[in-house]
Amino acid sequence: MGRERSRSGKAEPPFWLGSAEQVIEASVTAQRSIRQALDQAIAEVLSLNDNRVTHRRRTVRRLIDLSHPLEHGQLNFPSDPKISVVVHNTIQSIGYNITEISMSTHQGTHLDAPYHFFDDGKTLEQIPLERFYGAATLVDLAPGGSLPPKTPLTLKMFEPYSDLLRTGAKVIYRTGWDRMFGHPEFFSEFPTLTLDAARYLASRGIGLLGMDTPTPSVDWMECHHILLAKGVEIVIVEALANLDQLPRHFTFAGFPLKITGRDGSPIRAVAILDEDVD
Ligand SMILES: [Zn+2]
Repeated sequence: MGRERSRSGKAEPPFWLGSAEQVIEASVTAQRSIRQALDQAIAEVLSLNDNRVTHRRRTVRRLIDLSHPLEHGQLNFPSDPKISVVVHNTIQSIGYNITEISMSTHQGTHLDAPYHFFDDGKTLEQIPLERFYGAATLVDLAPGGSLPPKTPLTLKMFEPYSDLLRTGAKVIYRTGWDRMFGHPEFFSEFPTLTLDAARYLASRGIGLLGMDTPTPSVDWMECHHILLAKGVEIVIVEALANLDQLPRHFTFAGFPLKITGRDGSPIRAVAILDEDVD
């Protein structure tokens, strides 16, 4: 047998000069390598097609406005200063339009700095810009609708999201209450975070807590003390709008004005969505 001859050290003859068994074996090997080459060629063609498909897909960036409008005389908390937006001069009078505004640092859609409730707390310009921008999560507590007035927002309602409530996370919860903006009830009947829930969120070490109510809780003093305490220092974003247009994950941006040494600022809050389109 050829194999025996080969093992004995003698040169092997070309397969076509070998036994019928050798010829068959050589032909099977040749067929196998042809099949492998074909498989490889097919795989390459398929991957080229795949690349073409991914090339055709584009990412489109979409911005969603999360701020309520600022308007002269609009409702706010009765103890806050009234917003005033007054024409100061016009094109007819001096050649350009210029307006005088006067309002609280907590007018409309805005954020709170720790100094709002602590004299030794951080002021706006002491908070890094990264705290106002980045990956965010929506916790929708009223999918497709809105919560009844004064609904307590309990610890139990946030627990299912514990995986998302990580150190530094930006978390925005939705109650559907933004539809009441402009009505007195917006400031008196809003769904309200329980102090247990506030303590739970603070214990998770999140970095930003946003909401569509004018303040997190009717127990506003205690709640702000929990969320803004030294070492907790959550950026609180209040009175957000249009949260019903958001997916679970998005990029949040809401920068305060750089008002030196102060406690809060209106913001133009925006959600940035990167969507794949064909
Ligand atoms: Zn505020």
